[in-house]
This record gives sequence, structure tokens and C-alpha cells, in this order.
Amino acid sequence: MSQYWSPAVRELTPYVPGEQPREQLVKLNTNENPYPPAPGVGEALRDYATDHLRLYPDPTSKALREALAETFKVASGQVFVGNGSDEVLALAFQAFFRHGAPLDVPAITYSFYPVYANLYGVELRKHPLNEQWEIDIDALGADTNRSGVIFANPNAPTGHAHSLAAIEALLERVTDRVVLVDEAYVDFGAESAVSLIDRYPNLLVTGTFSKSRSLAGLRLGYAVGSEELIDGLLRVKDSFNSYPVDSLASLVGIAALKDVEHFEACRERVITTRERTHQRLEALGFEVLPSKANFVLAQHPGYEGAQLFSGLRERGILVRHFNTSDLNNFLRITIGTDDEMDSLIEALETLL
Ligand code: PMP
Repeated sequence: MSQYWSPAVRELTPYVPGEQPREQLVKLNTNENPYPPAPGVGEALRDYATDHLRLYPDPTSKALREALAETFKVASGQVFVGNGSDEVLALAFQAFFRHGAPLDVPAITYSFYPVYANLYGVELRKHPLNEQWEIDIDALGADTNRSGVIFANPNAPTGHAHSLAAIEALLERVTDRVVLVDEAYVDFGAESAVSLIDRYPNLLVTGTFSKSRSLAGLRLGYAVGSEELIDGLLRVKDSFNSYPVDSLASLVGIAALKDVEHFEACRERVITTRERTHQRLEALGFEVLPSKANFVLAQHPGYEGAQLFSGLRERGILVRHFNTSDLNNFLRITIGTDDEMDSLIEALETLL
């Protein structure tokens, strides 16, 4: 604690990301994609050093926004880009959620939301999940005194996804404030709410290149919404006097978007491996939550989460264990390659 810190910073509990080991481990702890990005990304990287590196980036990221607009069938003015969706989320908190009323959020969801809430002075109203570990979407936005609604769909770390119809029902109820749907994992089997943005000017959908596009190292994320909302994000962003994203991220992002075939093949592989892993974990006695993301959340009635986490770590396998009372017994396991999942299952067989 320092006297120099402002009060909001004194209260801050920084987000602790999963370990990023440099040693050879089967790394199933931070929901990265086990497959390489599209082959075109390699070519883009080579061109980058010779043709782009010495120049300042386009301050409007026009080409990248246009590529995203084409992908999502929206206008480029409805697209915002940032350094990872984490940055986009931070800007959204600043632009939309500081109305002096609580922000509706599921009690179990992406652990960065409380960090931003703390940092930007936004009070959270946390809604418990139901007995199936699903977000109680009817409870979100039910109280009219609120600064907005935020949730991840599929949710993290549970993997459950709500249908488009359920999200639409929420949007019919909440029209005066922003509803932010974080779609970091949507490509692994959930329906995207992007198709609703023309009808709901208060809907902001965020997404990332880190998961289904295999580009977590790049830090590239985006938001899609009405021009009114994109303008709100730009106002906050421009106040920092910096470019939306650097030219490397733009070039590589565009190359990744272009290769639809690679994208489809990759996500299908992850989905197939996820379903197989789900069944194999169940066969070992785990309770596994049905997931539409690139991870599964699982607990074993006979073992503590921390115990299994350390046992796997000793066997060279890194998964995620959350030290919170509600999730203490669970492991969140990222879906890797089939070989990596075989190693996980073998290690668990020796442990149980
Ligand atoms: N939203 C959710 C739900 C996430 O799990 C993550 C990644 N941990 C992010 C957003 C941020 O992704 P990125 O900053 O890599 O785009």
C-alpha cells in the first residue's frame, strides 16, 4: 500500500492471469488454440518487416475494420478494434457503465469485469448462476436502476451459452443502457448476437482473435455495435491519443480473417476434441459442465480441485484452478490437440 496511490488503486485487486510457462508442459490453462494460425499469417509477417515496419500505422485501422465488417456483414462504421478484447472491454466500461448505478453481471463470469469495475468506479450487482451453472439471464437488467448489463456468451469459465432468443428477450427489456455480450468463445458452438445489432442500438458485442483465430500473442480484439456505441468507444480511445491497433496486428488480423477454410477446420477440430474429452472425463467420474467454448469446467466428487491441479502439474500438465469458494473444486481445462488430451486423461488415470 502506498500513500501515492489514489483510493481506487488502493482497492484494486489485479487480475492474476494463468501461468505462462516457458518450459515444456502440456499447456491447458489459458484457453489458447492448440493449432497454428492461418498459413497467410506467415506471409503477412514476412511482408511486414520489409514493407510496413518503418511506417506509422493507419490511425483509423480502416483495412482491418473493413475486413471485420465483411466477415460480420455489417458496415465498417459499426466496428471498433483494440489491443485484445480486454482493452475493448476496458474502454466500454469507461464509455458506457459509469452512470452511478450498479452494473448487472453474473456472479460467476470473466474475472476481469470486477477488475475494471474497481478501476473505473463502477459498482457491480452480481446475480448468482442457477443450479445448472447457467447465467440467470432473466435476472440481468430486471431492476431499472442499473448502468448496464455485461456477460460472456459462452460464459467463462462454465462454457454455457444462451440462445439468441434469450439474448433478444433481454434486449427487449433493457433499452435505455448498454448490454455488452462478450463473445470471446462464440466460435466454438454458440450463436453470435452480431445479427441483432441493427435492431438494438444499445447492444455491443465484443470478440477476440486470441481463441478461434489462434493469435493470442498478437493482442487483437474488436467490438461490433451501432455507430453511436462505436463513437462512444472512439471518444475514450482518442483521449489517450493513440492509434487503435498497430500495423502488425492489422496486417496479421486481415490475413487470419481471409482464410475461412482454415478457421472452420480449426474450430471443428476443437469442438470434436471437446466432446470427446467431455465423455472421457465423465467416464473417469468427473462432473463436466456442457460447454460451447474451447474449455470444459469439471469437478470430481472424490478429489479436491487443488489436489488434482498439483497432481497434474507434477505430471507436466497445466490446467486452471480458481481459488474462489464457489469454484474451488473445479478444474478448467482448455481443449488442446487430441494428443494433449490423451496425455491429460492418462495423467488423471494415474492420479485417481
Ligand atoms: N473475454 C473473456 C470471457 C475471456 O476469457 C478473455 C480471455 N481470457 C477475454 C475476453 C480477453 O481476450 P483477449 O484480451 O485475449 O482478446
